[in-house]
Amino acid sequence: MLKGGAPPLLATLINDSSGGEVLSMECQMDANKVKCTCTYEPCSRKGKCCECISYHLESDELPACVFPPQVEKTYDRSIARFVKTFAHKI
Ligand code: SF4
Repeated sequence: MLKGGAPPLLATLINDSSGGEVLSMECQMDANKVKCTCTYEPCSRKGKCCECISYHLESDELPACVFPPQVEKTYDRSIARFVKTFAHKI
């Protein structure tokens, strides 16, 4: 788990079970699958972005779609790798 927990908006998306407007959106799983850049084919979370993000954040990782293709294919989804990848943009 991230130190200090998930960012507030993400925590709301993951934890809010009140049936509020955010969670009443229909999942666009088919459209998400088309846009998904993850090359790990056997994953059952493909297209289920909320599950994908939650799964990776629990291990201090980020989902495949935030990495460029040459990094994504290494399956190193760590936050450290993300920072290293984009350090030149800071
Ligand atoms: S990024 Fe991770 S959880 Fe998401 S589809 Fe790929 S392997 Fe599955």
